[in-house]
Amino acid sequence: MIVLKTRDEIEIMRRAGRVVARALDAAGDAICPGMTTLELDRLIEDVIRAQGAVPAFKNYRGFPGSACISINEEVVHGIPGDRVIGEGDIVSIDVGSIVNDFYGDSARTFPVGAVSKEKARLIDSTQNCLALAIDKVRIGFKLGAVSAAVQQYAESRGYGVVRQLVGHGIGRQMHEDPQVPNFGSPEDGPELESGMVLAIEPMINAGTHDVKTMTDGWTVVTADGQASAHFEHTVAVTDNGPDILTLS
Ligand code: MG
Ligand code: MG
Repeated sequence: MIVLKTRDEIEIMRRAGRVVARALDAAGDAICPGMTTLELDRLIEDVIRAQGAVPAFKNYRGFPGSACISINEEVVHGIPGDRVIGEGDIVSIDVGSIVNDFYGDSARTFPVGAVSKEKARLIDSTQNCLALAIDKVRIGFKLGAVSAAVQQYAESRGYGVVRQLVGHGIGRQMHEDPQVPNFGSPEDGPELESGMVLAIEPMINAGTHDVKTMTDGWTVVTADGQASAHFEHTVAVTDNGPDILTLS
């Protein structure tokens, strides 16, 4: 069941979204070669808590971090730890927060130092996928228009679109209906309605779309070991078009 949000609820979600955006801004400012993913996670948790919010991922189904931090071939759900971030890595950081019982959820992939042309193109393309998808968040369109926008652009660039993981509705729960796949036809899925709030999150692989989960039970990696990028915004459907709630 898709839960529609009132205007007041969307404003609370914007506060949760702003917390997440500021945490990602701080992470982007701080990230550098030699830092561990755990150091980055602590900084993110501090920024979230300093704004009076709660890190949504901490202890979610037993996840130990406040952020998911995934490097290079890691797609999503990387566990913060003693892995050292290196020059030329690309680092996907996914952050969630809770404010007054509502969730915000956003992710960005950061280049660390000088990255290869291929990795830079992957990051740009994934960011473009998200922008094109958000542009389809309009009343009267089907949810499939959002999904198809991601798939068409990513595949036109020669990339693989992850199938096993998808975006989601969001509100009083981090994961609500509907699922928001990054692939499909513009005619698929429910019609977009005012008050829906969607976490749209293209996960785009340089090579095959196939992924696997590591033995830690969390970290998802590309099946072929090539790089992956991830961008996500929490977006409300309004009468005036898309309203991105995860901006700083
Ligand atoms: Mg997320
Ligand atoms: Mg999400």
